[in-house]
Amino acid sequence: MNAEIIAVGSELLLGQIANTNAQFISSRFAEAGIGVFRHSVIGDNADRLTSELNTAISRSELIIITGGLGPTKDDLTKETVASILNRKLVYDQSSLDYIEQYFKSAGREMTDNNRKQALVIEGSAVLFNHHGMAPGMVIDEGQSTMVLLPGPPREMKPMLTDQLLPYLLRKRSNSQTIYSRVLRFFGIGEAELETMVEDLMSGTNPTVAPLASDGEVTLRLTAAEETREKAEALVNQLEEIIRNRPCGKHIYGYDDESLKSKVAALLKHKNLSIASAESLTAGLFASELATVAGISSSLKGSAVVYSPDAKQSVLKVSAETISSHGTVSQQCAEEMAVHVMSLFDADIGIGFTGVAGPGPFEGKEEGTVWISLASRDGRLNSKQLHLQGERNFKRIRAVKHGLFELIRFINR
Ligand code: ATP
Ligand code: MG
Repeated sequence: MNAEIIAVGSELLLGQIANTNAQFISSRFAEAGIGVFRHSVIGDNADRLTSELNTAISRSELIIITGGLGPTKDDLTKETVASILNRKLVYDQSSLDYIEQYFKSAGREMTDNNRKQALVIEGSAVLFNHHGMAPGMVIDEGQSTMVLLPGPPREMKPMLTDQLLPYLLRKRSNSQTIYSRVLRFFGIGEAELETMVEDLMSGTNPTVAPLASDGEVTLRLTAAEETREKAEALVNQLEEIIRNRPCGKHIYGYDDESLKSKVAALLKHKNLSIASAESLTAGLFASELATVAGISSSLKGSAVVYSPDAKQSVLKVSAETISSHGTVSQQCAEEMAVHVMSLFDADIGIGFTGVAGPGPFEGKEEGTVWISLASRDGRLNSKQLHLQGERNFKRIRAVKHGLFELIRFINR
């Protein structure tokens, strides 16, 4: 299926908002194996929209249009599409009921243009709007399928994920069942990962689609079979192959798991407590973990020890360590981890020390970071990083690396 996305709205052209809808739709389509070949933006103008749509129909099988489904004068998407396709607008009863009910329970007067939001193009499959008023529509016309989605992202996203994608996938696979799973990687770049699985990416069933963001990379594995069991089995086989490659050791989780939610789940599952000693991250690690509900049973506390003095007085880092190795050293990170573990009587201690920059510190290059992990049973593990980027970016990255190292440490 070759697709294109047309975003409608003058505010996009004026630079008042960014076209995040196209970005979201493209990323979901990429994961589902639907190729997107064009993004365009058109203002609230019927003539220009008409000419853009006519061109789109001549070249694309799937045309997604977002925006302009609302009640106001400048919302003219469905009127324009209806006129191009020579179809009438008719009321969608369930949307009309919903809108009427909404105004009734809000005690507000319903105007005619509100009723207009329940108008849909005749012959379309209606996508009910669970987060707003205007329904979406899918229209098959000759070789093309046109889809109209509301502009507000909070209405568009769930409609796309929960209704449109399953609809398109069903249509594409002739009633086959689609099963997909996301493998989450950390500590490996997108390009490096791709070269390790390149041979698997040309397959059509199952498919492998990569996606990268915020230092993390994911692979979505998708299979289509007559039954869910068969599709799942194909995905299992593929996952096994990927796990056995060098990139396998970078896998930390599945689907919507995050590094911090994974750490929290592991600590809870193994009944382990943790404390952190933080220099360059200055509490960021503990703060990140604290966003996970239920972490109070595992997170004992954190010591922010920014200055060399604080490292010595609060965490008993030896003067000898600081004078001979410096505060940005494996020795210092290890002492921080070990001592914070005993200070808080935790099962695991983690220490972060490094140079966020700009510029070097104590003769250590900017971006040098040491992360150490200590456990009550005497295990000690350290990792040196050389991080790039702006100061706060490095601090955030250091936390992510800490979370990832912790997952490995607990699983070992
Ligand atoms: P409404 O019923 O709110 O009028 P609509 O379907 O008519 O919805 P628009 O009027 O085009 O949509 O846009 C409404 C709002 O949705 C915009 O002000 C903007 O905040 C957001 N929006 C619209 N298009 C996009 C887009 N392409 N990317 C991100 N946000 C968008
Ligand atoms: Mg509008």
